[in-house]
Amino acid sequence: MFGKKLERSVEVRRDVMDSILSYCRIKHPNEGVLVLKGRSKRGLITVDGLVIPPFSESGPSFAGFPHSFLPFDLSYVGMVHSHPSGPAEPSLTDLHNFFGLVSVIVGFPYEDGSVYAWDSGGRRLPLSIYGDPATGARDLRKTL
Ligand SMILES: [Zn+2]
Repeated sequence: MFGKKLERSVEVRRDVMDSILSYCRIKHPNEGVLVLKGRSKRGLITVDGLVIPPFSESGPSFAGFPHSFLPFDLSYVGMVHSHPSGPAEPSLTDLHNFFGLVSVIVGFPYEDGSVYAWDSGGRRLPLSIYGDPATGARDLRKTL
């Protein structure tokens, strides 16, 4: 490993991405927040599930939840929240409340192209969507 930092990237299953986008639309004009489930292997973070965090609160410019109320689960890889207005970039508050390995932020109008992934240092990570919506096959891969 010679101290070289592992390059991270994120892939989100198609139906999970669709759930994220519709959740953000429902929450609009407030922020929506969800916990991402999946796994991480050699820098590739795969997201294949979602959890609605208990006791989450959200308003037009904040979304959060007490991490200690989450049921213990080793498959949490990060969280996703929406920015109903403004850029899909992490705010200082977002970075201070970083959870897991990746923070996904969805900007308005909540489409594939308005989704960005960030690491705890506020650096953008490559994000792709995998899986055919009908079959779940992995051959349909779209890089955002
Ligand atoms: Zn935010």
